[in-house]
Amino acid sequence: MRLCISCRKTYDRENLLKITKDHKQGIMFHKGMGRSAYICKSKNCYTDSKIKKKLQKALKTVFDPDFFDIYEKEMQTIINYPIKGI
Ligand SMILES: [Zn+2]
Repeated sequence: MRLCISCRKTYDRENLLKITKDHKQGIMFHKGMGRSAYICKSKNCYTDSKIKKKLQKALKTVFDPDFFDIYEKEMQTIINYPIKGI
């Protein structure tokens, strides 16, 4: 069980999007080694207007502008595979 950085509730890994600040490769989704943050797949959280700020704080980093395009694409995959069991 992991904590969503937006709603602060705990969920199973399958219901969370994992974002990792990899030591070598930078920000990665679903993989990488390093500090990680989790966002649950409830719409209120991944569309939270403050989510990018919260993510940067959680990962102790500042994102490249490019990251936000990648983030939007990842959000699309969540929409295609919605949360289970909530
Ligand atoms: Zn959440």
